[in-house]
Amino acid sequence: MILVFGKTGQVGIELRRRGDIVGLGRGQADLSNPSACADTIRAHAPLVVINAAAYTAVDRAEEDEELATIVNGDAPTAMAQACAELSIPFVHISTDYVFDGMGYSPWQVTDATAPQNAYGRSKLTGEEGICNSGATYAILRTSWVISAHGTNFVKTMLRLSETGDALSIVADQIGGPTPARDIAAACLQIAEQLQQDPSKSGTYHFSGAPNVSWAHFASEIFNQAARRIQITTIPTRNYPTLAVRPLNSRMDCRETKQAFGLEQPNWRLGLQQILKDLEVTA
Ligand code: NDP
Repeated sequence: MILVFGKTGQVGIELRRRGDIVGLGRGQADLSNPSACADTIRAHAPLVVINAAAYTAVDRAEEDEELATIVNGDAPTAMAQACAELSIPFVHISTDYVFDGMGYSPWQVTDATAPQNAYGRSKLTGEEGICNSGATYAILRTSWVISAHGTNFVKTMLRLSETGDALSIVADQIGGPTPARDIAAACLQIAEQLQQDPSKSGTYHFSGAPNVSWAHFASEIFNQAARRIQITTIPTRNYPTLAVRPLNSRMDCRETKQAFGLEQPNWRLGLQQILKDLEVTA
């Protein structure tokens, strides 16, 4: 049995559609209580643990860094320590926000980390705790998660297109939109392979292809959904947010393919499926 934390999130919902999964929500395991999360793992004695739960409100984290750090840093660390005790693998999802977002090259797994906001710092704390836990682990860094559930850019664009026919969208942040369904499939594939070969323990990158700007991504969403929206491209500095956003979210995913045979998902296909799930017809 695979134990999944965060069953109500975008990735958690996709994980629950598959396999022999026991999903835990906030009611069964609150990540603001890390030692209770570790106890929950001991009580279930699963074959593998996947943590899809996180404090993901990037702007709110600026004013709530203490809680974000407990949820994204201390809780995954305690989970990984429990997995080490039980000799079971721990699969955890992280983010390109652990990097400084500068430059134009895709981030390598070994590049220096330097988060620019509280959310990124809290996620990096989690990564460090997991690496030092003694567990067999995979940290899967991803970007721009999209699905038919929860809050994400696809759903925001569809909502905005109901009430207006012109939008200003940032064009200087570049990254790979990544369908939650593909992240869930990747987590399960990695979990299975880690059980067989713990030497694959480590940090990996997994994001959708090709890389695009938010403006370009929006235009593909509106094309696929047959919505006529006029897009004005703007620089990030004209769209101020509480948390600094990285301009460069490109990720080099070659090691993930080498280690686990996982290809980067084509987000255009993922987007088609999401629109179908949302019953948005062209
Ligand atoms: P969501 O925001 O969709 O879901 C977050 C999940 O975490 C929910 O199930 C939520 O529960 C749960 N959660 C939050 N706080 C707590 C808590 N204190 N105790 C228990 N559960 C809690 O996340 P995604 O599926 O989008 O993200 C999955 C992973 O991917 C995360 O690790 C995230 O950091 C990472 N990631 C996400 C990106 C994105 O664009 N969304 C980009 C890059 C990485 P509840 O429903 O009760 O709030």
